[in-house]
Amino acid sequence: MLREALRSLLRRPVTVEYLTKPGRMVPVPERFRGRLNYDRDACIGCLLCVRVCPGGVITSTEERKVAFNISRCVLCGQCAEICPKRAIKLSSQFEIITYSKDELVLK
Ligand code: SF4
Ligand code: SF4
Repeated sequence: MLREALRSLLRRPVTVEYLTKPGRMVPVPERFRGRLNYDRDACIGCLLCVRVCPGGVITSTEERKVAFNISRCVLCGQCAEICPKRAIKLSSQFEIITYSKDELVLK
């Protein structure tokens, strides 16, 4: 155990700092699946995203658009993949925590 401890002292850490610089978050991989972005203007209300969502995150609204309850989203990306208008995109944002559940509803 002592040998392993000494060896670890000489190794580079495998963890990375959360903030690389003040206000600058740790970089994420190119295809990272983070918080959803929804382009309401591009949406044609076809509801394909509602059908494929495994978590019941997406619901239709009265204006023939959709709403997302992000607190239930597992970031699988199926909605973004199927959307014919590319109205849904997964961003690189991984900080989704909030004090208010209302902030997690995307319309
Ligand atoms: S990423 Fe997956 S779980 Fe989240 S809204 Fe889209 S289909 Fe549903
Ligand atoms: S799949 Fe795209 S265009 Fe169709 S309802 Fe969903 S967001 Fe709108």
